[in-house]
Amino acid sequence: MSVIYERVAFIGLGLIASSMIHAGRRAGLQGEIVGTARSPETRAIAREDGLCDVVAETAAEAVKDADLVVLCVPVGAMGKVAEEIGPHLKPGCTVSDVGSVKRAVIEAVKPHLPESVHFIPAHPLAGTEHSGPRAGFAELFENRYTLIVPDGDADPAALARLERYWAGLGAHVEIMEPEHHDLVLMVTSHAPHLIAYTMVGVADDLRRVTDSEVIKYSAAGFRDFTRIAASDPTMWRDVFLNNREATMEILGRFIEELMRLQRAIRKEDGDLLFDYFTRTRAIRRGIIEAGQDTAAPDFGRGHGKGGTEG
Ligand code: NAP
Repeated sequence: MSVIYERVAFIGLGLIASSMIHAGRRAGLQGEIVGTARSPETRAIAREDGLCDVVAETAAEAVKDADLVVLCVPVGAMGKVAEEIGPHLKPGCTVSDVGSVKRAVIEAVKPHLPESVHFIPAHPLAGTEHSGPRAGFAELFENRYTLIVPDGDADPAALARLERYWAGLGAHVEIMEPEHHDLVLMVTSHAPHLIAYTMVGVADDLRRVTDSEVIKYSAAGFRDFTRIAASDPTMWRDVFLNNREATMEILGRFIEELMRLQRAIRKEDGDLLFDYFTRTRAIRRGIIEAGQDTAAPDFGRGHGKGGTEG
């Protein structure tokens, strides 16, 4: 594939940025990669591993002459980073991000960017429960969607270029409107994380079940919650604080559904439970048919080997 951006700057060098770097290198999508991270430790790792062609000390320095700048920091840190880089951006460049929430990021970032740059937010729907500059891998985005989420009209050429870049990283690319993005992601990602956090928290509180039993018998469903509940605390704190309205709406609905099932169990309404579980099973089938998960039993884990995560 040919070079799409001469110089790409990554602000934040965690799981998502390092995966983009590996995938972009493999496909030859950029001439030069510049990166920076907040801590000297992460910058040292990036230098040691040769993650970027240039590791800059500051975000302001990293964005100089970049054709594409990608903000890969937690959602709550986007505004501050935008404020720092705003005066140093090359006119005509594209600024994008990978934040899991879009309306709040747009509100935090946009005021700090000059008119002369194209701000086109994005969100790759791919991740693992691991973080940091060594967590990334080139295949992360393959067969996964990346949503490009412009705020109103984006420059068609800049938009098409960013779409080509994400497609080059291996993703299926779709365009979505910010409010719709935040609601869809609340259902598909954010609420399940919140439920996993509470489920694991509840198990931790249940002293009747000893810790060793929780771990020993975890394959009965609990293990899948623990993987989600191991996700980065900073990232997920910021997701909920920055998508409050959609969280409240979906949580309200979730509590109603839970109470419906509670009532059905109390009243021994087996028909309701059976119909409900039949409907949810069909949703799982749809996800497999769409190629978004494996049909292999137990998510394709090798039994007795501890399974394959990520
Ligand atoms: P990560 O592995 O934890 O890396 C985060 C990076 O941001 C690190 O380089 C960190 O610097 C830096 N950072 C943290 N707090 C900061 C602050 N207050 N100011 C400036 N820099 C800061 O995170 P990630 O998983 O790559 O996530 C990055 C973004 O992608 C987030 O907005 C997240 O919502 C989004 N996202 C994540 C996933 C996922 O599953 N992980 C999926 C899609 C989108 P240090 O290393 O120096 O601390």
